[in-house]
Amino acid sequence: MRAALLYGPGDLRVEEVAEPQGEVIVEVQAATTCGTDAKMWRHGHRILPPYPCAFGHETAGVRTDTGERVLVSDSVPCGRCAPCRRGRPQICRDPTWVLGGFAEYIAAPEQALHPIPEGLPAPAAAMAEPLAAAVHAVDRGGEAPDVGIVGGGPMGLMLAALLIAEGRALTLADPHPERRAQAEQLGARAGERLATRHDLVFEAVGRPEAWQTAAAAASPGGVVVLVGGCPSGSEVTFDPGPIHYEELELRGSFHHDRDDVNRALAALADGTVPWQTFQGPTISLPELPQALASPNDGPAVKWVVDPRR
Ligand SMILES: [Zn+2]
Ligand SMILES: [Zn+2]
Repeated sequence: MRAALLYGPGDLRVEEVAEPQGEVIVEVQAATTCGTDAKMWRHGHRILPPYPCAFGHETAGVRTDTGERVLVSDSVPCGRCAPCRRGRPQICRDPTWVLGGFAEYIAAPEQALHPIPEGLPAPAAAMAEPLAAAVHAVDRGGEAPDVGIVGGGPMGLMLAALLIAEGRALTLADPHPERRAQAEQLGARAGERLATRHDLVFEAVGRPEAWQTAAAAASPGGVVVLVGGCPSGSEVTFDPGPIHYEELELRGSFHHDRDDVNRALAALADGTVPWQTFQGPTISLPELPQALASPNDGPAVKWVVDPRR
């Protein structure tokens, strides 16, 4: 079969390889790209196995054993570590990562598979993986009705769609006019920056400056949910004043669990999240390196890799 393999930073090759071995084999129909893939391609990533390695973690396809359409979640928690036992599998200390969606077939444990709701196309189903992380982040944030979001990439816009569906007042900040227009289409207010302070602020950029911007935009007693992972080795400084005198709460949010993924699939299927907003061009495996290298500006869309092309 054909697969995209990472040989090192910036070195991605599409090759003929042996079919994967594992509990269930899924024929890939759509694997969407995200910022993490671009990071993995450019710099490597702590969850990647040794080079050369397969990658791609937003994957939908058909089980070769039963013919059922499934989303392949990118991880299975261990169930044994302290966070897993405390009911927080999102931060499992020893998850099994299921990577390799940029290939004709992927092998996955049964526990990583989720049935795709009737009528939901494969590219939309693949987006349930990042959307599940947004579902978890909304849970981390709590109920505040007045919300700001820093960052209008796919994650910021997915957060916006979920929060607007809950009837919350939302303002999204992003320097790109195209992304502000996408946010407005979803029903948000949008600006270049958050002009007022909000009870709940989500950071969805993944850079130290954005973490600081988000913290500065929270009202006294507010909550900041930090969703974007900063590059390893980053340092972020915060003014201790608001954290002390205003009881500002900074909360991390990472990943998702099985229930978050099922809720994401349901939100895509029932129209809560208009996934068409995020769907970019469909490309073949050989077109993937160029897609990952293309500049990350303009509207926030995800490429859809169809390995059958
Ligand atoms: Zn992703
Ligand atoms: Zn665990």
